[in-house]
Amino acid sequence: MIFQGQNKYFYLLVLKSTFAPQMNFSRHLQKTVFRAVQQAALEQHAEAFVIGGYVRDLMLKRLNKDIDIVTSGDGPALANRTAELLGVKRVSIFANFGTAHFIYKGSEVEFVSARKESYRATSRKPDVEKGTLVDDQMRRDFTVNAMALSLQEDSFGDLVDPFNGLLDLENKILRTPLEPAITYSDDPLRMMRAVRFAAQLNFTIEEKSLLAIKENAARLEIVSVERTMVEFNKILLAKKPSVGLKLLFDTELLHQFFPEMVKLHGVEKKNNYAHKDNFYHTLEVVDNLRANTNNLWLLWGAVLHDIAKPHTKRFEDGIGWTFHGHEDVGARWVPKIFQRLKLPLDHQMKFVQKLVALHLRPIALTKDEISDSAVRRLLFEAGDDIDDLMLLCQADITSKNESKVKRYLANYEKVKLKLVELEEKDRVRNFQPPVSGELVMETFQLQPCKEVGEIKNAIKDAILDGKIQNNYEEAFAFMIELGKALNLVPKN
Ligand code: ATP
Ligand code: MG
Repeated sequence: MIFQGQNKYFYLLVLKSTFAPQMNFSRHLQKTVFRAVQQAALEQHAEAFVIGGYVRDLMLKRLNKDIDIVTSGDGPALANRTAELLGVKRVSIFANFGTAHFIYKGSEVEFVSARKESYRATSRKPDVEKGTLVDDQMRRDFTVNAMALSLQEDSFGDLVDPFNGLLDLENKILRTPLEPAITYSDDPLRMMRAVRFAAQLNFTIEEKSLLAIKENAARLEIVSVERTMVEFNKILLAKKPSVGLKLLFDTELLHQFFPEMVKLHGVEKKNNYAHKDNFYHTLEVVDNLRANTNNLWLLWGAVLHDIAKPHTKRFEDGIGWTFHGHEDVGARWVPKIFQRLKLPLDHQMKFVQKLVALHLRPIALTKDEISDSAVRRLLFEAGDDIDDLMLLCQADITSKNESKVKRYLANYEKVKLKLVELEEKDRVRNFQPPVSGELVMETFQLQPCKEVGEIKNAIKDAILDGKIQNNYEEAFAFMIELGKALNLVPKN
């Protein structure tokens, strides 16, 4: 029995269950927690269902540690009694929202009273009142996220699926339970979620929905940038991020929060010279890199590596299109982009900035004879991020010319070997000057002045250029030579 809801969906449901065989998933609900909910609900004369992402992922055989329970009774009361039965001590209650949750055996179990929502145009926070199960299913974003399984004794494991989520799941379709225009306009975050699920689950967004997203894209302005970025980051961590990034572009959601990335799009042609489309190139780089990393910030390095190309683009006669300095301009933009998108501004941002600044260097190395000194300098500047930088550069090779790719990759391997060889020998990856500024000052009886800096720099350059070894003795002797050239006399 579904709670007594006097609306057409209730009747639809009854009709459907008369004709369709009842699907039962009780064998998938073996966890102790479900039986505990069942008992607690029985004691409280309430009905309870597991609903949403957990049910979807169960059908998709995906791991999901979040269990959402919806009840006809009181969410917090049901949470408290269930926790008691399971011996869980800590329950967090959010009385204002009528929700409560606790952690049990690594799963987060959330309880909510079934509700009905109504929205105002200016906020994605709805007015909420008590509702039936179907009301609660109706307020959900997609039919595949609106399926529920009964936890009542007489119907334990029965699927309650008034919007045919199971069929959509089989067809890999994202469809909204209500009119898409209403669903998206009510809570525009759902548009980002649609794209995220499409990328994460490899599902298609239903045509009508896609059109509604395009129409409502500007509504994203009432969503906080933090929430938008949670979805964007999940898109980057999908198996093939380009699916989501392309959808963001096509629906113009991307235009609402990331105009710099939109500007990468397009090809200009002049005197038979055309440059590549930097938007699709960037997508390819992100996909390539995703195949080799789970590191979100490394993926951000790929998103931003060419971000300043449109800004630095020039046409030079006889040469074609150039993008001189795009790596430096891009690196300078990273802090302001991170700030605007409310991404972390400490070491993650610095890491991305470094990747953008250095992304051309390994490939530039492969173009000439590979000199030890250039490789040492790269090691010095990249430090411990050298391996990530190399992964980004490898992903950046997207030429369609097979022999070119082969040559790049072969040279790239040579640079990699050289990096290992030189690091073993010279240890410049975490370079610490073997002679300190204090020692320079003490040796030549100097106050802090520009000569001290020059001497320190000259020693560093001599090491990176391989003129002297990276040790105290050679560096000290070299310092004395430098001092002589500057007419400085060492104290004896
Ligand atoms: P994941 O946990 O992988 O992000 P999920 O579908 O479980 O995916 P949650 O954010 O955990 O997503 O939300 C749980 C359920 O709550 C969803 O399955 C959906 O039914 C509902 N839901 C979440 N956010 C919204 C929203 N903005 N609009 C409507 N329903 C939502
Ligand atoms: Mg979830």
